[in-house]
Amino acid sequence: MTRITNHLPTAELQRLDAAHHMHPFSTQADLAKRGARVITRAKGCFLTDSEGEEILDAMAGLWCVNVGYGREELVQVAAAQMRELPYYNTFFMTTHVPAIALSAKLAELAPGDLNHVFYSCSGSEANDTNIRLVRTYWATKGQPSKFTIISRKNGYHGSTMGGGSLGGMAGIHSQGGLPIPGIHHIGQPDWWSEGGDMSPEDFGLMRARELEQAIDEIGEDNVAAFIAEPVQGAGGVIVAPNTYWPEVSRICRERNILLIADEVICGFGRTGNWFGSQTLGITPDIMTVAKGLSSGYQPIGGSIVSDEIAEVIGSIEFNHGYTYHAHPVAAAVALENLRILEEEQIVTRVREHTAPLLKAKWESLADHPLVGEAKIVGMMGSIALTPDKASRAAFASDPGTVGYICREFCFGTNLVMRHVGDRMIISPPLVISDEEIDLLIARARHALDQTYDKLKAEGMLKAA
Ligand SMILES: *Cc1c(COP(=O)(O)O)cnc(C)c1O
Repeated sequence: MTRITNHLPTAELQRLDAAHHMHPFSTQADLAKRGARVITRAKGCFLTDSEGEEILDAMAGLWCVNVGYGREELVQVAAAQMRELPYYNTFFMTTHVPAIALSAKLAELAPGDLNHVFYSCSGSEANDTNIRLVRTYWATKGQPSKFTIISRKNGYHGSTMGGGSLGGMAGIHSQGGLPIPGIHHIGQPDWWSEGGDMSPEDFGLMRARELEQAIDEIGEDNVAAFIAEPVQGAGGVIVAPNTYWPEVSRICRERNILLIADEVICGFGRTGNWFGSQTLGITPDIMTVAKGLSSGYQPIGGSIVSDEIAEVIGSIEFNHGYTYHAHPVAAAVALENLRILEEEQIVTRVREHTAPLLKAKWESLADHPLVGEAKIVGMMGSIALTPDKASRAAFASDPGTVGYICREFCFGTNLVMRHVGDRMIISPPLVISDEEIDLLIARARHALDQTYDKLKAEGMLKAA
């Protein structure tokens, strides 16, 4: 058998990849024609591909490699844990040290009385757990009618049946019979695209009050919870107007429903605090975590729940769990990742130094002719591309056409910046240096210039 290694020619790797590897969120037929870029190694904030190109990863993988690539401590911890205890479960009156240690650490870091962790291997699975958890919570308290979960259009909560249903992505709902029953979507606080003539403040209040209206329509006795990302990530790094979260918090306080903060992206330093809820002033009953929990070095996620929820759920047998719940290797790596974030004061440094610096430079892109607004919270930012800043117009082309062109220019200039529709987004490793931020901005500006020139040459600078 021929071994498939990094040393095969790129074209051969691409051919084998297209022939046998089904890519997520991709059109496989297009990929087969073009060939996927083969990433072979990574260090710090840079990826290396099979052609030896060095690419600045302004997305930290998929919003997850918070401590950067190539941290030897995480490698050592994984190897040691695999030698000592590579696997055991905690289903039947057993436990193990990585599960104990990580749970205690998360209880210490999480705000308020969020002191109990139910594990998963991903954010999607954690949100599937949350659906069953909140409905079971109310049923156990004698209120089984409290069943519906309210979430937001263009929110992202994963792509399993449950996570995809909670999310408000039309593309996901259009395939496979989603959403499942008992999920209700309200509008998102995206002022740039949907705010019309309203001020951002008024629009933020209006969108928050959609939650109250939905509770009134469905009936408080039928609503289990509201779930939202503190800052929408995959939806395009949508930062709500500052009136939004205080009003949502008021509504959740006054109404008898649980608040789930999906912290899968915002958690673990991304917004300049340990959790996005702290940055946005939210007091959740449950937090979904994954991604930055292990900096992506191992697949692990979970639901961190309040004392009260843990007590109610703890009074019954909760018929739910994954084979790899609190997987010892993943848990050990996550714990070491938290140690690195804490001892190297990475979260503090983000808040006091890196995020303010990135904010100033990122917002300077707003002077580019293609850029409408530049938004950023901590280390997650977006720019809206527009043919006309004053009217916040969308392009005449299909949504995402221009964003895709810009992303291709970014990739060509060795910068990973994603597009969501015609917004460009970044979420770099938290350890990015000042020089690397300069490089990120220079490459982004270059790609924007190239995009502008192409749109102009092809007559695409037209408003819808
Ligand atoms: C990525 C993401 C998820 C899903 O996590 P997976 O590990 O991909 O299943 C859920 N919620 C949010 C906010 C995310 O960004």
